[in-house]
Amino acid sequence: MKSCLIVDDSKVIRKVARRILEDLSFATDEAADGRDALEHCRQTMPDVILLDWNMPVMSGMEFLSVLRAEQNGKRPVVVFCTTENDMAHIRAAIDAGADEYIMKPFDRDVIEAKLAQVGAL
Ligand SMILES: [Mg+2]
Repeated sequence: MKSCLIVDDSKVIRKVARRILEDLSFATDEAADGRDALEHCRQTMPDVILLDWNMPVMSGMEFLSVLRAEQNGKRPVVVFCTTENDMAHIRAAIDAGADEYIMKPFDRDVIEAKLAQVGAL
């Protein structure tokens, strides 16, 4: 079973994502901000990370920069979730090491299609 860490400061979004990912047979965990997510990854690196952009304490971008610098061996697939429909933001995320991005609000079909695209299903 593959694992997915859902990182978002919105409890509602985490719940929606969790339902979709468990439906796609992922074992899931949740983190409410980048720092929380980093602690989780340092203990157990997930296969996939669904990562929000705007979060308090530590943003998705800050988290991703630290993660990519620290990881050794296991490289999780990172899918950025953003409401910023803006190529500059998307480019910055890809440059920081995101594998793909999705626009909020997302649904099951979008998540499934992106995960299939990056070979994470
Ligand atoms: Mg947010």
